[in-house]
Amino acid sequence: MRVHERHYIGGEWVAAEGAGSFDVVCSSTEEVMGRVPAGSAREAERAADAARSAFPGYASLPKTERVGLLARIADGLEARADELTELIASEVGMPKRLASLIQVHVPIKNLRDAARIYAELELEERIGNSLVLREPVGVVAAITPWNYPLNQVLAKVGPALLVGSTVVLKPSEVAPLSAYVLAEVIHAAGAPRGVFQLVCGDGPSAGEALARHPAVDMLSFTGSTRAGRRVAELAAASVKRVALELGGKSANLILEDADFERAVKAGVSHAFLNSGQTCSAWTRMLVPKARLAEAAALAKTAAEKLTLGSALAEGTRLGPLVSALQRDRVRSYIQKGIDEGATLVTGGPEAPEGLARGFFVRPTVFSDVRPEMTIAREEIFGPVLSILPFADEEDAIRIANDTIYGLGGAVWSKDAARAERVARRLRTGQVDINGGAFNPAAPFGGMKQSGIGREGGRHGIEEFLETKSLQL
Ligand code: NAD
Repeated sequence: MRVHERHYIGGEWVAAEGAGSFDVVCSSTEEVMGRVPAGSAREAERAADAARSAFPGYASLPKTERVGLLARIADGLEARADELTELIASEVGMPKRLASLIQVHVPIKNLRDAARIYAELELEERIGNSLVLREPVGVVAAITPWNYPLNQVLAKVGPALLVGSTVVLKPSEVAPLSAYVLAEVIHAAGAPRGVFQLVCGDGPSAGEALARHPAVDMLSFTGSTRAGRRVAELAAASVKRVALELGGKSANLILEDADFERAVKAGVSHAFLNSGQTCSAWTRMLVPKARLAEAAALAKTAAEKLTLGSALAEGTRLGPLVSALQRDRVRSYIQKGIDEGATLVTGGPEAPEGLARGFFVRPTVFSDVRPEMTIAREEIFGPVLSILPFADEEDAIRIANDTIYGLGGAVWSKDAARAERVARRLRTGQVDINGGAFNPAAPFGGMKQSGIGREGGRHGIEEFLETKSLQL
């Protein structure tokens, strides 16, 4: 049981003002595993003021000092990797072996890569009689979700601290425990006072205070489109830079000449990664009408192979959802799919057998899904896959783009040139062609209502830079 009663502000652990708190619940056992303070708007503002005071000094440090700090932070996290894995697997529900890689080791490696990229990044350029400088954006408020808690935090905190910005982090109150480990590591790594603050709390109080506060120059938000709209609205009053990483409803477009077996199998794995609690999950599988039955059969086999169980048990392929709330939401979407006339291929809204504790949902596949159905339009954030038929390539592209979102996606075809041609026509931030591997150095982010801005690699660092021209 981890009980935290403090925020980290101005280089110190500061007792929370109020008595309010949030319980952190283990998604596999339903037991309370931790507690964090429900920070107030005032505490968030204090943290932003501390970041403001620290900014000029930190921004003027030599680049090499900040690169060194980030390397020490990466080392500190690495030394606590097992503990981080245990915490995140318990909170979120991703099976431990996968969580160790995806939720912990990959984000730490990304941090090291970001430090290397920043060390080599050219920050000055001559344009005619101007010297163009790229400077840190200032105070960054980072507001993050629960589904990849450390990864989403590091994608913001890493680049911001590298370039010389100072940070207030408000992690998700649902999965905040890895953020406490990070704050301890940053403190031990010798970060100057006020460079990084951690304030725990919910969106409407601590989160909205950060979005409003004039001391914050940039709001970097990852979460739902609903909350993203709200923070952007609040941030507009003081004309902050806003970066938004929001929801998705990504299409996996399987053309008739694709390796069907491989494409469907990979599609199911992708849709169900982290129990479907992945913003870029390929939740809509688009297949030629004539091959709908074949795709449904392949998807059924793949889904039924996923052993459901505790995230902490060996051999589990699919863990629970993060919370009772999320489990109930996802089950009601499954019921809606049935009610609106989609064909249930496997799974369903009932509780899975043999799992008395934990927020489990049966891995569910629907076929004969029409584009206007709720399960084809809304982000479900659970292990639910919708298979939609298309008439031809044009129709497939039209259906893929017929969404308010544009985050991820995939195209499969034996003809690589055709696949690329189709991929270029998708209005989405990322497209994986024929199973092309995830590349953490490639820019990640959304078009349309999936967001504004990019994270990852060089692009993810440049997000936190301001441009200034000196005329000589
Ligand atoms: P959420 O929007 O409920 O919460 C995200 C964060 O915003 C939390 O820290 C929360 O406390 C805060 N928040 C909520 N309301 C707020 C408000 N009014 N003002 C300020 N802050 C507020 O999202 P969630 O349930 O934690 O995460 C799931 C969502 O995140 C999904 O929609 C998913 O697609 C999205 N997501 C997107 C990406 C991406 O990179 N595009 C990555 C991960 C998750």
